[in-house]
Amino acid sequence: MSTSPYELTCEILSRRSITPNDAGCQDKIVQVLEPLGFKAERIHRNDTQNLWIRKGEEGPLFIFAGHTDVVPSGDESLWDSPAFTPTIRDGRLYARGVADMKTSIACFTCAVERFIKVHPNHRGSIALLLTSDEEGDGYDGTTFVVDTLASRNIQPRWCIVGEPSCSRLLGDAIKNGRRGSLNGKLTVRGIQGHVAYPEKVSNPIHPAGQIVSELATTTWGKTYPGFPMTSFQVSNIHAGTGAVNVVPADCTVTFNIRFNPSLTAEALIQQIEGICAKYTSNYSIEWKISATPFATKGEELSKALSQAITKVCGIKPEFSTSGGTSDARFISRWCPEVVEFGPTNETIHKINENIPVDQIDKLTDIYYKTLETLLAS
Ligand SMILES: [Zn+2]
Repeated sequence: MSTSPYELTCEILSRRSITPNDAGCQDKIVQVLEPLGFKAERIHRNDTQNLWIRKGEEGPLFIFAGHTDVVPSGDESLWDSPAFTPTIRDGRLYARGVADMKTSIACFTCAVERFIKVHPNHRGSIALLLTSDEEGDGYDGTTFVVDTLASRNIQPRWCIVGEPSCSRLLGDAIKNGRRGSLNGKLTVRGIQGHVAYPEKVSNPIHPAGQIVSELATTTWGKTYPGFPMTSFQVSNIHAGTGAVNVVPADCTVTFNIRFNPSLTAEALIQQIEGICAKYTSNYSIEWKISATPFATKGEELSKALSQAITKVCGIKPEFSTSGGTSDARFISRWCPEVVEFGPTNETIHKINENIPVDQIDKLTDIYYKTLETLLAS
């Protein structure tokens, strides 16, 4: 008897696994895979539960990756059905985490089970990498597991991260890279005083304005295949005491840059510091690199997945690098070909998170067919 992807989805959706809790989701996956010869290893760290479960020792190694944690439901009285009681209405399955990303976990687990039953002598090996800390700060999750496995010289070839990559229809998008994200908080300091005595003050807003103007009109880096151009945005400017006759002591500007792989965070920091120094010597910048960019290398997995999508859904997926960050950025340091593919993402993190229920069987089929193309002997 094979596990039903729908039932496994509902089983893990019923668990209140709010970051960094796993609430027994990973054990449920172990119960399905261990009888097939998978060996489970828990690589927990602090409050985070991580699971590495693998069958086979030979290459090529194929990984399915994902997170069992979800964001909080928010005010549950606003949900039309309880957030942790999976409920079908009008052909849609509602529950926190149904799109992001417990359905994918259930689907790839069932796809793996079916594949091993149909192809017991397949080539290579298959593993799952699951964490309960993707929606949080992520320090103890996938990045830690990747470092641990890389230090043992485990070398994967392909990885699908089951993040909800599709926008309107199942199969409309595969993510094959992500932009980097750099945050800066610039503080320009001056000398506070009365506006009527310009010789006694130094107005920090004036150089800050010149800096913002140059940053906003600079072309950053170059084009990069498959990526949009690097973009710079100011998110906040604060200065002033509220009084009309006071020059303030400082001005702070916060900004974000989403950058393609033609640039590094270090190169951007150097360039921006250079622009600031042209207008004032009295400034400082706090930097936070939220994500380094990555682009998938190779086409074997992209092609196999794309063909599987076309067979199951009758559409040709687009390759996209848009959207926020995910754990794929950590895996890409270690695994050459990483893509993200999962259900539609319209309602992720929202009240009444849902997906069309027919996506469950289709997604399972897509993962299954991708395995067949790459690993059936
Ligand atoms: Zn997610």
